[in-house]
Amino acid sequence: MLIYLNGKLVPKEEAKVSVYDHGLLYGDGVFEGIRVYEGNIFRLREHIERLYESARTIMLEIPMSLEKMIEATVETVAANGRKDGYIRLVVSRGVGDLGIDPANCDVPTVIIIVDGIALYPPEFYDTGISLITASTRRIPLECLDPRIKSLNYLNNIQAKIEARRAGVPEAIMLNQNGRVAECTADNLFVIKDGKLLTPDVTEGALPGITRATVLELGKQIGYEPQETRLGLHDLYNAEECFLTGTGAEIVPVINVDGRGIGDGTPGAGTGRLLRAFRELIVTDGVAVAFR
Ligand code: PMP
Repeated sequence: MLIYLNGKLVPKEEAKVSVYDHGLLYGDGVFEGIRVYEGNIFRLREHIERLYESARTIMLEIPMSLEKMIEATVETVAANGRKDGYIRLVVSRGVGDLGIDPANCDVPTVIIIVDGIALYPPEFYDTGISLITASTRRIPLECLDPRIKSLNYLNNIQAKIEARRAGVPEAIMLNQNGRVAECTADNLFVIKDGKLLTPDVTEGALPGITRATVLELGKQIGYEPQETRLGLHDLYNAEECFLTGTGAEIVPVINVDGRGIGDGTPGAGTGRLLRAFRELIVTDGVAVAFR
C-alpha cells in the first residue's frame, strides 16, 4: 500500500508525520472522504473544490494547485491498483511548535490514503436504521462554519457516542435554534407530499457531495427538492426519511426517537433514489488508468 505524503508515494510503514504537526496537536487542518467505484472516482472535482474552500476559510494555503491535487489523487489510486475503495485526503497546517499560532507552521502536510471502506452492514439498506436526537448541538455558524470540513470532529464525535450508547448507528444533531442540522457524519433528508426536503447548509449542515447528488436525482425522478428549515416535528411526521454520505450512500431511516417513520419500513422513494444513485456511481466519475 502506497501513501501520498508531501509529494511522494511512500510505503504505508514509512508514511509518518511529526508529533509537532498541528493537525495532531490542534485538529488544525481539513480533509475529504471520496469513493472509487469500478475504477471511477466519484465527483472528484467537487470533493477537491470543497477541500480548497474549507482550506481558504481557515486561511490554510494548500501548497499545490487544485489541478495538481486532482492529478495526485488519481495517481495514488492508480499506484494502489484499487478499483473500489475509499480515498482519505488530509491537509494539515503542518509542523510547528507547541503553541497554537499557525504562523510557526511552515509547510502544510498533504496526505492521500487509498484504502478499503467499512460500510454500514448490507442489511441496513433493506431494513433501515433508527436514529436518536443527540443532546450535543451542532457548532453554530457564528462560531465555526459547519461547511468547513475540518480535522476537528469532536462535536460530531460527542453526538456519535450518544448514538452508540443509545444502541443506534447515527444521531441527529440540532442547531442552536433547535432545528435539524444533520447527523454526525451524514446529511439527512425527508420526503413528504412529493417534496424532497433537507436542511439548508446555513442550518448547520455540511454541503455533502452525496446530498447534492440526491438533490439532482430527486429532481430527475420527479420530486420537488428543497433546501429548507426542518424541525423534529417534520421528521416525526415525514412519509420517508433517509441519510446520505460518501460512506453511507443512501440509508433508509425507519424510526426517529421512538416514532416510526411512515409505515415504519424503508420508503419506496428512498429505494428509487438508492437505485438511481447506484446506477450513477459506476458511470459518473473520473476514470483512473490502471497500469
Ligand atoms: N455531514 C458531515 C458532518 C460529514 O462529515 C459528512 C461526510 N462524511 C457528510 C455530512 C456527508 O457528506 P458527503 O456526502 O460529502 O460525504
